Formats: sequence, C-alpha cells, structure tokens
Amino acid sequence: MATKYIFVTGGVTSSLGKGIISASLAKLLQARGYSVTIQKFDPYINIDPGTLNPYEHGECYVTEDGAETDLDLGHYERFLNTPTSQANNVTTGRIYQTVIDKERKGDFLGKTVQIIPHITDEIKRRIKLLGTKHKYDIVITEIGGTVGDIESLPYIEAVRQLKWEIGKNCLVIHLTLVPYLSAPGELKTKPTQHSVKLLLENGVQPDILVLRTEHPLNKELRKKVALFCNVDFESVIESIDVSTIYEVPVLMHKEKLDVTVLKKLGLAMKDEPPLIPWNDFLKKLKNPKTHVNIALVGKYVELSDAYKSISESFIHAGAENECKVHLKFIHSEEVTIANSEEKFKDIQGILVAPGFGHRGIDGKINAIKYARENNIPFLGICLGMQCAVIEFGLNVLGLKDANSREMNRTTPHPVIDLMEEQKTIIEKGGTMRLGSYPCKVKKGTNAFGAYKKTQINERHRHRYEFNNSYLEQYEKAGMISAGINPESELVEIIEIPSHPWFVGVQFHPEYKSSVLYPHPIFVAFIKAVMEENMKKLEV
Ligand code: GLN
Repeated sequence: MATKYIFVTGGVTSSLGKGIISASLAKLLQARGYSVTIQKFDPYINIDPGTLNPYEHGECYVTEDGAETDLDLGHYERFLNTPTSQANNVTTGRIYQTVIDKERKGDFLGKTVQIIPHITDEIKRRIKLLGTKHKYDIVITEIGGTVGDIESLPYIEAVRQLKWEIGKNCLVIHLTLVPYLSAPGELKTKPTQHSVKLLLENGVQPDILVLRTEHPLNKELRKKVALFCNVDFESVIESIDVSTIYEVPVLMHKEKLDVTVLKKLGLAMKDEPPLIPWNDFLKKLKNPKTHVNIALVGKYVELSDAYKSISESFIHAGAENECKVHLKFIHSEEVTIANSEEKFKDIQGILVAPGFGHRGIDGKINAIKYARENNIPFLGICLGMQCAVIEFGLNVLGLKDANSREMNRTTPHPVIDLMEEQKTIIEKGGTMRLGSYPCKVKKGTNAFGAYKKTQINERHRHRYEFNNSYLEQYEKAGMISAGINPESELVEIIEIPSHPWFVGVQFHPEYKSSVLYPHPIFVAFIKAVMEENMKKLEV
C-alpha cells in the first residue's frame, strides 16, 4: 500500500500538546495493526537542539543512532515503543544546510535557489523519507510552532504542495484551543475559527480539528466549529484536560479520532485497538498501593521539561511497582552539608541529574554524601554518576581536590577525565559520545539484579568518563565498577555494595523507558526505595 501521510499543525497558542496527540493517534493506529512512525519538524535555525540550553527548549532527547533531538521524540518512543532516529527530527537549520551544501556543489545547475521550490522540495523529501525508505504504512509529521509564525511558513507551504500532489494519501489535523471565559461562563470558538482562517490563507484546509479544552464540548459548539471551518461534524474532536498524558490515547479512541482518520485515508479499520496492556498500566498508575518521595537534584529544576524523560521514567517504574512516586525537584545550588537533613527530611530516594558545567556541582556532591552516609537509595545519571565518583574520591579516599576535568582543568586528581577520542574535538554540535553502546554488567551487582542479564545496550551523551587509573583504589575502598563497555573498558556503572542501593550510570536509562517496558534501573530503584522505607517504618 502507498504510505499515508498525516500532518499535525497547531494554532492559537503553543504547548497544546501536538506531540501527545500525534503519539496517541500513532498508538491507536499501531494497535490496529498498522506500522506507524512520527517525525517532528522544528522551525528553528539550530541544526539540532543539542547545543540549546535546557531553559530554552527543555530536555534534549537522544536516539539509538545518537541523534540529539526534540523531547517530543521521547513521547513518541514512550507511547509506541519503537525506536526513532535522526530522520525523525528535522530542523530548519538542517533543511537550509542541505540546500546550501547542494548549491555549493553546483547541484542546482545555475538556478536561483529559493524558498519555493528548493527549501519546500527539501522539506517534502524529508517528509517522505520515512515512507519511502523505511516503508511505514503511516507517517505522522508534527509541524513545530504555531500557524501564523513566520518560521513555520515554508512547512505549511510544503504541506499545501503535498496535499495537492498526493491528495487522498494525506490529511491534516489541526490542533487548537477553545478557551473558557468565566465571566459569561462560555467556551469560545473564535480563536479556532481564526486559526483555521490563517491556515486557509496559506492554502491548507484542515481535515480534522482537535480542540483542546478544559470543559466538555457540546453538540452545538461542535456543529458551529464544523460549519465555520469546513470540516465534517465527526471531524471535530474534543481533547479535554486529563490528569495524565497516558490517558490521551484512550480519550482519542473514545472520540473516534482513529476511526475518522482511517475513514478519511481510505484504510481498513482492522481490529479494534486492544490497548489491554495500556489500560492495565493506567489502572496501576491510578491505584497505587504505596507512596514514596524522591528528590531530583539538578540545576534546571525551575523547568520540569528539562528532565522530562526522567520524570516519565518514574511514572512508568512507579506504576510497575504499584507505587506513586512524588518527584520533588531540589535545586542543586541550594544543597549544603548544613541544610541536607532539612532538604531531604521527607525524602526516601535521591536522584542526581545529568548536566554540564560547574554550576550546582557542590550541591550535587553534598546531596550524594547525604545519600551515601544515610543509606538512602541513590541513582546518579551521567553527571550524577560522575559526581558520585568525585564525592567518593573526596570524602572516602581523601583525594584532595579530586574533581572532573570538566570542572577543574588542573585538579591533582582527575577522577573523571576527558575521553581520549574527545581530546582533539573543538566543535560543540553533535560531537559527544552519543547514542547506543553495549555494556557488560557484572553478576551479583544491583545493576544485574535490575537487568537480570549481562549484555545490555544503553544510550549516551557525554565527553567525560571515569578515570580507570583510579579504579583499583576505588574498588578497594568500596565503590566498584558494576558494568563496563566491552571494547573500551570504560566504566559505565558504579556501585557501593555496602550501601542498600547506590548506583551511578554513565548512560541515560531514562531515554529507553516506555509505558509497556518501564526501565529496569528505575524499576529496581523504586523497589529499593520502597524496601528501605518499609524497613525504616518498621523500626
Ligand atoms: N558533563 C558531563 C560530560 O560531558 C556529563 C554529561 C551528562 O550528564 N549528560 O561527560
């Protein structure tokens, strides 16, 4: 069958949840037996979000093939459970770079290179790539930004052209907001009408409208939107606020978004989406038997999107353990030795987050010291693991001024050092040790207890690593290497066996946790937190 293309655009305001709607629709179509993928087009000039400050753009999500991508790809993977790749996230920067490179090679044979057709051709080529190369039945393309933005215009134009070229094999879903005005006590459709008009000005008639709302939409309102926006009544879909994003696929199924999409694309309905494991997950999520408080110590805590995959991993792992995880964000710059007890007084587990640069390092080290000395289950991710190594060097081994060379170039004890292959690299974009690498897990460790196997693959994003010349000293004093890269012997996991559960991982387990496969490290961490908490309550 010819690949079908679905475009998801947004109007009225940003942050309406296009990513979640795209992922939910994909989930429903996948559950009916179609092969589906989602890609995101971001209208900014950066080549990828790898160099963006998390305050600007939230978390940078890393794929198996080592692409640094938008955090929406994390949602796609968590919902669909299929890996994404570089092809699933394209930015304006990348589009222009490709076109300009071609121009330099002389590929345009003397033509004037223009937004139409050259930029739009490149957008269309990339839209179709996943269909032609990977042969998906359905490719959902989320267009970042909001219609009316200058930056999104070439994308909307590419959608217009594609709609014209492939007709029935494509459709446009437009997501808008229906605000509730409390004075008259009414839901308002005007912003939706205006936003559809904007799309129409650009030559695109949406086929389906998904209306984000805080209150249920009645029949009259839906009829009105259908009439003003030239869509069928069944194509006006309500997307009401829910307590968890994982309810959205169920909600979209109730609204028959999948049925309407399949009808419009001329595809067979196949079986009703079973969604049984999905609903089991939701049931566990909503009916926890216990509660725990976990501190996430990081420097971007004002913006929870900066740690999106970690927060979601806790939701998955909590549900698996039938435990509600209350994640408390603690600013690393605020943790001192003196205030640790106060800061962590209601906390049963501590996670120290990934990160870059010096800011907040002392607080991370203080938090780790507190976790280590007070037998609080601890998980350190990437920089969090590196800080655990520094803390142990300083406070257990007595290595004066031990540090990572990232923080102190001239430290006498670079217990964390720049990786050999990084030493000659100057450019920042896409040059870290990125993507999936194998790791050999040692039997008898907490990591082995979690994974229950010795061969694993995890995703990375770092330049620095454990300095193996200190390994013997560390192991003698009680911090062991629990997993190494089989080729380079890089230490990928550290543990303190005398502690109830103290694990640091150089990789990012959070990128691989999904609803149906909660990540074993997070599952084991929560389990350890619950067990330690039980012990404390019994005393
Ligand atoms: N800044 C550290 C490094 O580059 C850790 C990176 C991270 O936490 N992702 O090695």
